[in-house]
Amino acid sequence: AALADLEAQGERVVLEAEQDRMNTLVLSAVAGAVFIAGAIGLLVFVANPLRRLACAAERLGEGELSARVPVAGPREVRAGATALNEAIASLDVAEKQAMALAEERLEDPVLRSVAPGQLGESLQVAVSRLAGSLSDRDELAQRLSHEAAHDGLTKIPNRTATLRSLEAAMARSRRSSMTMALLYIDIDRFKAINDIHGHHIGDMVLKEIADRLVGALRTGDMVGRIGGDEFVVIAEPINDITDATTLATRILQVLAVPVDLDGKVFHPSASIGVGVDNGELTTDELLRDADMAVYRAKAQGRNRISVCDEDLRNQWRGQERLQKSLELALEEEQFVLAFQPSFDARTNRPIAFEALIRWEHPTRGIVYPDEFIPTAERTDLIAEIDRWVLDAAAAQVGAWHGVPLFDGVPIAVNISGRHLGSGTLVGDVSAALKKHEILPNRLVLELTETALMGDLITAARELAQLRKIGVQIALDDYGTGYMSLAHLRGLPVDILKVDRSFVTPLADTDNYREREIVASMVSLAKGLGAITVAEGIEEDQEFATLRELGCDRIQGFFFHRPTEVDH
Ligand code: C2E
Ligand code: CA
Ligand code: CA
Repeated sequence: AALADLEAQGERVVLEAEQDRMNTLVLSAVAGAVFIAGAIGLLVFVANPLRRLACAAERLGEGELSARVPVAGPREVRAGATALNEAIASLDVAEKQAMALAEERLEDPVLRSVAPGQLGESLQVAVSRLAGSLSDRDELAQRLSHEAAHDGLTKIPNRTATLRSLEAAMARSRRSSMTMALLYIDIDRFKAINDIHGHHIGDMVLKEIADRLVGALRTGDMVGRIGGDEFVVIAEPINDITDATTLATRILQVLAVPVDLDGKVFHPSASIGVGVDNGELTTDELLRDADMAVYRAKAQGRNRISVCDEDLRNQWRGQERLQKSLELALEEEQFVLAFQPSFDARTNRPIAFEALIRWEHPTRGIVYPDEFIPTAERTDLIAEIDRWVLDAAAAQVGAWHGVPLFDGVPIAVNISGRHLGSGTLVGDVSAALKKHEILPNRLVLELTETALMGDLITAARELAQLRKIGVQIALDDYGTGYMSLAHLRGLPVDILKVDRSFVTPLADTDNYREREIVASMVSLAKGLGAITVAEGIEEDQEFATLRELGCDRIQGFFFHRPTEVDH
C-alpha cells in the first residue's frame, strides 16, 4: 500500500509538475505576447510621431516650409509638433510678406498678418517699417516725376514734358487727319523787367503770365514753358488757321491787362508765332515754323501775331543755305580779318586794332559781317567763327612781333553772346594765346551789352577769369542796350566803347543834350576805372567835341578804315 501510495504520490507529483510546466509555458507565452504587443504599441505610439517630427525638423532646416507634422503621440511629442507647426506657420507668413515686399505689393493683406509670439511681433514691426519706407519712396518718386515734368515756378509743364505732349498731339492729329496749331509765345522785353526790378519781381510776373495763359486756353489745349520767357500752346484740333489766330488774339488780350505787384505796374505783351500742321510736319519742323514766325513778329515790332507762311519758309531755306556756305567758308578758309586802329585822343598814336571779319566769297566778292553774323549767331556756328577769329588775331599779334608801330599793340576781337554763354570762351582764348605764344595783355575781347545780358552772372564769372590772366575786356556798342548801372558795376570791364549813334550827333555843336549824354558816359567810365573809346568818328567836329569831353581813345573812318593786312 505504501508503494501504491508512493506511486500514486509520484504520479501526482509528475502531474503537478506537468501542470506547473504547462502553467509556466502558458505564462511565458502570455508574457512574450504582452512584451511583443508592448513593443509594437511603443513603436506606433511614440517612435513614428517622433520620426515624423525629426523628419519635419530636418526639412525645415533645409528651408522647406510645406512640412506640417500631424499632432499625435505622447504629450511631449505633440507639444513638439505643435511648436514646430507654429514656427513653420510664422516662417510661412514671413516668406509671403518678404515676397509681397519684394514685388512691392504694398496693398497685399498678408503684410498686415501677424505671426504668433515675439518673432511675429518683431517681424510685424520690420515689415511695417519697410512697407512704410517703400511707400514713402514711391511718393517721392511720384513727386519727383511730377516736378521733373512741371516747371517749378509756374507749375505748368516744362520744356521736356511739353515737347513730349507736342509729339503725342502731332501723332494723334496725323492718325485722325486733323489740323493742329502750335503757338510760340515770346514775352516782349521780359529781360528788362528782370534787370530793372530783379528776379523776384520777374518771377512773379512770369507766374501771373502763366496763369493767364492757362485761363485763355480752350478745353483740350495745353500750355507749357519751354524757356525763361518762352511759352508754347498746343491747340488741337483746330478747324483752320483762324481758330489759331483767334486764340492768339485772345492771349494777347489777356496779357495786355496790367499786372499790379504791390503798386508796381507792368504792361506785359508778347510776340506770338503760329505754326500749323495738317499731319505732314515733324515736331522739329512745326517748332521751327512757329519759331520763325515769332522771330518775324518780334522784328515787325513785337506785341503781335505772325503766322508761318511760304515766304517765311523761303527765308528760312535761304538761312539754311547761308549756314551751309558758312560752314564751307570755315572749312575752306574764306574768311579774312580787316583791322581798324583806334588812337590815343591826345597823342594820335595807335593804341589797339579791332579785328573785323570779312568773307571773301568765291563768287559774291567781299561779304560784310552784318550779312552773315546774325545768321551764324542763330546756331553754334558763331562760336566756331569766333574761334577762327581768335586764332587769326593771335597769329597776327605774333606776326607783328618786332615790327615798328605794330609790335606790342593789342588786337580787339568781337565775341558773340552765344559764344560767351557756351562755356568754352576761357578755353578758346587760352588755346589761341598758347598756340601763338602771345601775352594775354595783347588781346582785348569786345562784348556787346546784349551779349552780356543773356546770363549776366556766368558772363561776369567768365570775364573775371579772363581778366585775371590779363586779357582786357571791352563793353561794345555801349549805350544801345538797357544795361543798368547796377549791372555795369558788377561787370569786370576795362574799356567802354561809346556807340556810333552817340558820336554822330556830336557833329552838330548846338546839340547840348547829346553832348551831355556822352559827357556822362565818359565820367561813368572814369568812375568805373575804365577807358572810353568813341566809335565811328567820321567828322572832325565829332573828334573835337570828344576830345573836349575827355574821351580817351577814338576810332572811325575819319582816322582809318578797316584794312586787310598784306602778308
Ligand atoms: P562793331 O563791333 O561795332 O564794329 C564796328 C563796325 O563799325 C565795323 O563794321 C566797322 O567797319 C564800322 N565802322 C568803323 N568806323 C566807322 C565809321 O566811322 N563809320 C561807320 N559808318 N562805320 C564804322 P563791320 O566790320 O561791318 O562790322 C559790323 C559788326 O559785325 C561789328 O560791329 C560786330 O558786331 C560784328 N563783327 C565784325 N567782326 C566780327 C567778328 O569777328 N566776330 C563777331 N562775332 N562779330 C563781328
Ligand atoms: Ca566791336
Ligand atoms: Ca561797336
